[in-house]
Amino acid sequence: MIHCKPRVRFAPSPTGYLHVGGLRTALYNYLFAKRNEGTFVLRIEDTDRNRFVEGAVESLIETLDWAGLKPDEGPAAGGSYGPYVQSQRLNIYNKHSQKLIEDHKAYYCFCSSERLEILRKEQQQAGASQMKYDKHCLSLSADQIHNKLQAGENCVIRLNVQSGEKVIVEDLIRGRVEFDPETIDDQVLIKSDGYPTYHLANVVDDHLMEITHVIRGEEWLPSTPKHVLLYQYFGWEIPKFAHLPLLLNSDRSKLSKRQGDVAVEDYIAKGYFKEALINFVALLGWSAGDNQEFYYLDELIDKFSLERVQKSGAVFNIEKLNWLNFEHLQRKDSNELVSLLRTEISKSKYMNKSFSDDYLSRVINAMKERVNFVHEFLANGFYFFEAPIEFEEKAREKNWKADTPVYLGKLKIEFASLENPVKEDYETALGKVAEEFEIGKGKLIHPLRLVVSGVSGGPGVYDILEILGKNEVIKRIETALQKLS
Ligand code: GLU
Repeated sequence: MIHCKPRVRFAPSPTGYLHVGGLRTALYNYLFAKRNEGTFVLRIEDTDRNRFVEGAVESLIETLDWAGLKPDEGPAAGGSYGPYVQSQRLNIYNKHSQKLIEDHKAYYCFCSSERLEILRKEQQQAGASQMKYDKHCLSLSADQIHNKLQAGENCVIRLNVQSGEKVIVEDLIRGRVEFDPETIDDQVLIKSDGYPTYHLANVVDDHLMEITHVIRGEEWLPSTPKHVLLYQYFGWEIPKFAHLPLLLNSDRSKLSKRQGDVAVEDYIAKGYFKEALINFVALLGWSAGDNQEFYYLDELIDKFSLERVQKSGAVFNIEKLNWLNFEHLQRKDSNELVSLLRTEISKSKYMNKSFSDDYLSRVINAMKERVNFVHEFLANGFYFFEAPIEFEEKAREKNWKADTPVYLGKLKIEFASLENPVKEDYETALGKVAEEFEIGKGKLIHPLRLVVSGVSGGPGVYDILEILGKNEVIKRIETALQKLS
């Protein structure tokens, strides 16, 4: 536990979907806040108007809501807290940029894109790895600036990076990172459209929102020296930084769409549980050090600490996510699974059929250990929802012999004589028929499984029989005898 009550934020730019790395950042911020009785703030960083995507903010909030990561404060929205939205705070950033100009820590720049392009080429030819603005406009007089502004010339406001000592970032995960001020560009703070860049808006808001810990992805580390300078130039206290390790594909390249889904929305659509996804992303760069891998959110809150976040990249292993989904499914209570299964049924071709809760929960019990997802109850256990129309060819070749119709005919008669049979009754009846014909039980079990389910795998055959019920079993035997004989 840390002593002061921390204030943290998740500050996504709305791109149209929530990246799994974004979910991890949100989760670590959330866990850190909850673990330390702090405050979790959601801030939408939407000042890049070129990247504006209709509906992106709404979908982001919806996805975070689905994950259960709700902010602890913010503008009221429908009975809970909404996010702070940067595009609604433009005057705040403008006011702050003016303050920097007054203090000579920022200046107007009127350079045309043509001039900047020439500059870039010159620097490139001279072997520079990245372009640095040459402070050309810093020499403009107050009158010149005034006249240009009056004339409505296109302009931006730039940070006036002073040469001097190294810029130090003390990162809670990466340790001390040093940056040479000579490598830091006079970053644009306010763009020609009047909107702030990420850097200015981010620092101003982190200060005004009293953020104590900036927990974000490693890709933002190169921006951090600019932020540190901004804090210094404003005369503000610098928050603590924690840059989270990169997410990697299994070949250790940076996690990319080309090798799999990166949008949380895609995982939701595929039927992953929020508990499993949360559990999974929690382990992308953090472990409690006790070999435990299965966690609920509460336990994560209990155990989480930034000290145990690793520096090296975290490999995104889809098999592990599938395994966690399986594990979470196994532990869900029967009522919840029944209701989840009903939702799947309502979206399937079985939507007009009716099944009792008792029937569904028996199907769930029989199938549970064989599925990773709720929709697999339908896909793998379709025979509980409709009689098989086709029969697996390989199993048929292997198990359907010349004598099989005679055996099954007898089995049908034997089953018909049973009263309210449970699985043991079916088993006894089958044993009796096998004895009569002096054959191994397998000669009956395999074709029986094929006729009632259409496939060769699945739960125990007597479980299937008990769930389907005597009448349905007999009907299926009759149909198969006609179709397969
Ligand atoms: N808006 C940035 C993003 O999209 C936020 C980075 C930060 O947390 O400072 O990830």
